[in-house]
Amino acid sequence: MLSVRSIFRPLRHSRHPTSFLHSAASPSSSPSSAAAIEAERAIREGPRQDWTRPEITDVYQSPLLDLLFHGAEVHRHAHNFREVQQCTLLSIKTGGCSEDCSYCPQSSRYQTGLKAQKLMNKDAVLEAAKRAKEAGSTRFCMGAAWRDTVGRKTNFNQILDYVKEIRGMGMEVCCTLGMLEKEQAAELKKAGLTAYNHNLDTSREYYSNVITTRSYDERLKTLEHVQKAGIHVCSGDLSNPPRKL
Ligand code: SF4
Repeated sequence: MLSVRSIFRPLRHSRHPTSFLHSAASPSSSPSSAAAIEAERAIREGPRQDWTRPEITDVYQSPLLDLLFHGAEVHRHAHNFREVQQCTLLSIKTGGCSEDCSYCPQSSRYQTGLKAQKLMNKDAVLEAAKRAKEAGSTRFCMGAAWRDTVGRKTNFNQILDYVKEIRGMGMEVCCTLGMLEKEQAAELKKAGLTAYNHNLDTSREYYSNVITTRSYDERLKTLEHVQKAGIHVCSGDLSNPPRKL
């Protein structure tokens, strides 16, 4: 049975900046919190990538309602808050993964009763993408339970073909296939890939408590390859994972 689920993500939409600068300074806000200061800065100057840990800690420790209020302000500045993008995620190769992510039933290290499957064939994948489009999705995401795609030339070429075909259907395409080499990221970009999902899972310090079969820095390397290839990065983490996994 196909594993398909839909995800809703906000659509990018730039609003007129001045209206938000005005609301950021309204009497209901708390201008002294780090959340308020950083929200005003983000609306004025756009996103930044040079955060220091103390700056992040200050935002994190802002009063909760300040975080919600100013977070919503920045969100509404960057996106049309009344619109979402519907994406459909399909597991094109399920189970039997050689990694040992403690939270994942697809790891071959754990007895979860999940049977490893081969890569889905082209007809089945394209049929799922067609159904997703008919149901209103504008992005189709394909996930494979692999550590990486090195040594999987045939499978990787099949996926490149799936990416091209689905782009040809007028949809955006996202993949999550494990770690990538620089050349593979370039090939995915050439095939038309819109975004690559690769989660950071947890902090570098805590990483070995969650996963022992790869390092945090290997994870970052793939993200670097993806970014340099010009593909959008889709990445998250597990904030405050349980102390015992
Ligand atoms: S790499 Fe992905 S599929 Fe493999 S065990 Fe980790 S989360 Fe599961």
